[in-house]
Amino acid sequence: MVKILRNVYSIDHSEAKNHSMESWILDCSEGVILIDGGMTPQHVENIENELKSINKNWSDVVDILVTHKHGDHINNLPKLVDLTNAPVKSHKLEAPLIKSAVGVEVEGLEDHTVLNYCGGIELIHVPGHSEGNCCYYLKEHKAMIAGDTIFGDENCNLSPPPERYCLDVDQAKDEIKKLMDYDFDVLIYTHGKDIMDNAKAKVKELI
Ligand SMILES: [Zn+2]
Repeated sequence: MVKILRNVYSIDHSEAKNHSMESWILDCSEGVILIDGGMTPQHVENIENELKSINKNWSDVVDILVTHKHGDHINNLPKLVDLTNAPVKSHKLEAPLIKSAVGVEVEGLEDHTVLNYCGGIELIHVPGHSEGNCCYYLKEHKAMIAGDTIFGDENCNLSPPPERYCLDVDQAKDEIKKLMDYDFDVLIYTHGKDIMDNAKAKVKELI
């Protein structure tokens, strides 16, 4: 468990503890938000331990946000919905795909929807990795939660998502430019070590 920003916690699910698999908890004054849920029972346990460590429990979770439909982000959703009773939300193109994959109701959100938690969380549609792949921008923290929009390694070297995992790798690469419209210092992403300063410049270099 790592507190990476005020009210933002990154859970490193990787067994090697090299940040090759993360999900996140936001402890907002409006309630706890879970972003992506992992895929194994161990990941559920990791999330539970994280909640306990900040004196919260499953019933404090008010929303489950999902970046995209791939199994390592959604396979635990039925269990997590059972535990929290919280609604699951994603971009509108991804919602029916997630529902058909794991059988939970998913509310589809429009591009640029701002959720009123933690000073505003904006959904940014960045297709290519999957149809409705998205990032969540934390305005107050100047932080971009990029999910699989960008990959990296334990030394913060960034790369586009690998072709074998992408619906359309050219589109996935091209759409990363969309992040340049936002002011962010911190880049939080699933597969690689989060970048805690000067992140926008590093993403610009990648583009
Ligand atoms: Zn993915």
